[in-house]
Amino acid sequence: MLIGPHVRSQSAASTRSPGPGPAADPLNHELETYQPGAAQPARDVGETARQIEEAVVVGAGPAGLAAAIVLAQRGVKVTVVELRDYFYQRPHHLNLRQQTLDTFAELGVLDDIAQRSGPLEREELTHLGEVREPTQRPPDPNRVTSDAWEILNSPSVMQARISDVEKMMHYHAEEMGVKFKYHAHAILDQQEDGNFGVHAQDAEGITDLGVPDLVVVTDGANSTTREQVGIGFEEQSEGRWYLGGHVNLPIGAVTRKSIHVNEDGSTQRLMATGHARYPSTWISVEASGSMLESTQEERVAQLCRGASLIMGQEVRPEDITWGAGLVTKVQDRVIERAAVGGNLIFGGDAARTGDVWESGGLNLSLTSDVRNLTRLVEGVNSGRRSKANALHQYCLRTRWASRMWHAASAQSAS
Ligand SMILES: Cc1cc2nc3c(=O)[nH]c(=O)nc-3n(C[C@H](O)[C@H](O)[C@H](O)COP(=O)(O)OP(=O)(O)OC[C@H]3O[C@@H](n4cnc5c(N)ncnc54)[C@H](O)[C@@H]3O)c2cc1C
Repeated sequence: MLIGPHVRSQSAASTRSPGPGPAADPLNHELETYQPGAAQPARDVGETARQIEEAVVVGAGPAGLAAAIVLAQRGVKVTVVELRDYFYQRPHHLNLRQQTLDTFAELGVLDDIAQRSGPLEREELTHLGEVREPTQRPPDPNRVTSDAWEILNSPSVMQARISDVEKMMHYHAEEMGVKFKYHAHAILDQQEDGNFGVHAQDAEGITDLGVPDLVVVTDGANSTTREQVGIGFEEQSEGRWYLGGHVNLPIGAVTRKSIHVNEDGSTQRLMATGHARYPSTWISVEASGSMLESTQEERVAQLCRGASLIMGQEVRPEDITWGAGLVTKVQDRVIERAAVGGNLIFGGDAARTGDVWESGGLNLSLTSDVRNLTRLVEGVNSGRRSKANALHQYCLRTRWASRMWHAASAQSAS
């Protein structure tokens, strides 16, 4: 059965649950009682362990590129399918935590990223407008701890341009023998045994990539693949809208966050991320959903107003070099299942999203997801775990990290 975007979709849960809820789904029950640090008994003992030798990664954002490198480092033959052009530039500056830099080092890309995007300048990094005090762990500390909590409560130690991160990871993956298919849309093909085959559709037609041992879906927050396989969200908050823009004026290597009180008493979140190397600043300005109906000029005017407030200097339309008028909907989401069938897993923003105010998304993809994928491939390829069990554990760990991230950001916001 070839599954295209038009064939199947599933309505997502429309309300946000306050936390782990009743065990309607057996996976939920396991999540309730799950301790990520504890050794899990191998299940499915009857299944013959199968090596993961070939994998397809859907999406060449940071999460997909990291997955490709993790797999290639372990001798897996990897093909990455990506819709975009390789040269497509995304300009926003990322706030990176120390744990993320540790992952870059393990992936072999830290030096290249630091060289391209600027050195670590810890002393210069300060949070202006908001000083975060260490917060308490979420309730029930004796049950589970998670990377998510530690990561969210760690300071950012480096600003990198997302395009630099992607380029350096792409080069490194290519050097390791990873194959890339750009300008191609991945389409899944579910087999009778539940495994997924992958087709890559580009201007020249459809290429059959077979039924890989593993399909890693990292096609971002608006994942069409997630819809193709009928996966919704177990939790989904109301959306917040942000206008984004790249301002060609420097503020140095700092992150500023501020909540501005408007004349009518309403509040507006403003963020600015500067850069050590580039004399430019990435701005995010909270807006309302009605912004979608406004003209480009109105969006630019609102972006300039917010940018001027948070940067403390006048920002004019001509100072905005990219993204003026770009509207992003941001909401907390956790995928209801992060492993599907016999060979498919989700990672990165395709598996969860959160509030940009806390900037945890990329950091979680490059820590928790990387570690969970490493456990999966090493567990299966060493014969210690059946593949079904390893996928199941991946699913639990991924959902748990996402929940912890949301719990941590809700607590720090309150
Ligand atoms: C303005 C802005 C500022 C941000 N700032 C921060 C920050 O400071 N810190 C932080 O941690 N995070 C930040 N984030 C979030 C961070 O950028 C994301 O968490 C990160 O990019 C997610 O990586 P990803 O690889 O999961 O998804 P993406 O980066 O979205 O990549 C998904 C890729 O999949 C491709 N794709 C989609 N569908 C298909 C398909 N069917 N077939 C093939 N390819 C497909 C897309 O073209 C895309 O390249 C920010 C995000 C934005 C928008």
